[in-house]
Amino acid sequence: MDNATFYFQKIKSFILDVFFPIHCLGCQTESYWLCDSCLKKIKLRNQQFCPHCEKIITPDGRACFTCKNKSPLTGLLVATSYQEPLVSKAVHLYKYRFLETLAKPLSQLILKILQDYDLPLPDLILPIPLHPRRLRWRGFNQASHLAENLASNLLPEFVLETTAELLIRQRYTLPQMSLKNHTQRHQNVRDAFTITNQAKIKNKRILLVDDIATTGSTIFECARILKEADAKEVWAVVIAKRDYGKK
Ligand SMILES: [Zn+2]
Ligand SMILES: [Zn+2]
Repeated sequence: MDNATFYFQKIKSFILDVFFPIHCLGCQTESYWLCDSCLKKIKLRNQQFCPHCEKIITPDGRACFTCKNKSPLTGLLVATSYQEPLVSKAVHLYKYRFLETLAKPLSQLILKILQDYDLPLPDLILPIPLHPRRLRWRGFNQASHLAENLASNLLPEFVLETTAELLIRQRYTLPQMSLKNHTQRHQNVRDAFTITNQAKIKNKRILLVDDIATTGSTIFECARILKEADAKEVWAVVIAKRDYGKK
């Protein structure tokens, strides 16, 4: 999509919102894109797996005993399933129809899973970055909005630190979805990211945030360079994961 098409889309959705009121994706009630009662009906995952082997169930999504030493990622929490019809619909609209207002209900899912599993509080919340070119195309980074919502709601009356400038995407990569196998996805994101200020990472417990993980290669690559920069622990949280259990 070029810039003109992008703005046309934005204007179109603005006009649609004015003349045709918003209906909830679940119950069609005229209110929000995802009303509170439909949001509550979305089932959260009651099991979390080791993000490395994806086979062993671990109490809070941390890497299992066997994978612990080879995984730069301490653990990954997956909030819900992509098979939940409301989840796939909402994530799709959020990401491809540029509906920024969906960030709030979607970040509630992430917030709830973090609270359910009682993870240690992060020092820093980092969104998985977009390349500037893709950011221009989309107009917003879907992961940043989730991270900001999380940072301001994880603790009552305390806003955690989040910044989109600390971890950046220096190389333009193909969408992970367009690649067939794990090796290609791994190579696609290899060295795609860089850290702008290592001092801010050192000894910190970091929480990475993204909307959907495909195989997790992007998250692992970010965790790898954060660990290289001496992060103490790197956790990640996503709304859902595609093809869960397959590698
Ligand atoms: Zn509803
Ligand atoms: Zn494992």
